[in-house]
Amino acid sequence: MIFRGLQKTTLVDYPGLVACTLFVDKCNFRCPFCQNATLVLEEEKNVISEREVLEFLNKRKKVLQGICITGGEPTLHTELKEFLPKVKELGYKIKLDTNGSRPDFVRELIDSKLIDYVAMDIKAPLEKYGLAAGVKVNKEAIKESISLLLEGRIDYEFRTTVVPTIIELEDMPKIGELIKGAKAYYLQQFVNTVPLLDPEFEKIMPYSKETLQKMAEMVKPYVKKVGIRA
Ligand code: SF4
Repeated sequence: MIFRGLQKTTLVDYPGLVACTLFVDKCNFRCPFCQNATLVLEEEKNVISEREVLEFLNKRKKVLQGICITGGEPTLHTELKEFLPKVKELGYKIKLDTNGSRPDFVRELIDSKLIDYVAMDIKAPLEKYGLAAGVKVNKEAIKESISLLLEGRIDYEFRTTVVPTIIELEDMPKIGELIKGAKAYYLQQFVNTVPLLDPEFEKIMPYSKETLQKMAEMVKPYVKKVGIRA
């Protein structure tokens, strides 16, 4: 398995754990606000081998408790099924980031006890999914991924990057309905200060903290916990 990036320590990517983050390439979405264009477009030249990663994890196992797998879209990498057991053997907790397009693969990883936490993007209410993802999306797969996590067999969170022109206040109750009963939902502030997949989106100003707060209030009746990541 090939990785395209390694952040050696993170205190924020894995809730409650000191972790590292591994980046993989490829994605089946083209969200215009994506900050990882080189990974998505498979233009990232950096290559970190599985052996290097396992050596690093072996050395750091007294300091780190978890690893986050992000991308790109990790669920496009079926090689994870062979890689993750090696990480589990070293005693790490594993968090998977996903856009929710491949519920069968996530289910397989949950059933095999190869992951401990899933962070799933809710790009928008279902009727706006194509706009947010930049491609035609199989909405049944998104709904299936949501249902899978709502079963509660694994720790999880849902999260939305709040991009003006895509997400509006009136979308919040629709998102709330979609993930009704969820244990945790986060609104993530849109960042326009790094190169984005669609450079036009770099001209869009993020919503104010007050607007994010209002949005959070609107989702509160539907979920157990709402947070804002600014
Ligand atoms: S933000 Fe969108 S395009 Fe970028 S990695 Fe995530 S799902 Fe793929």
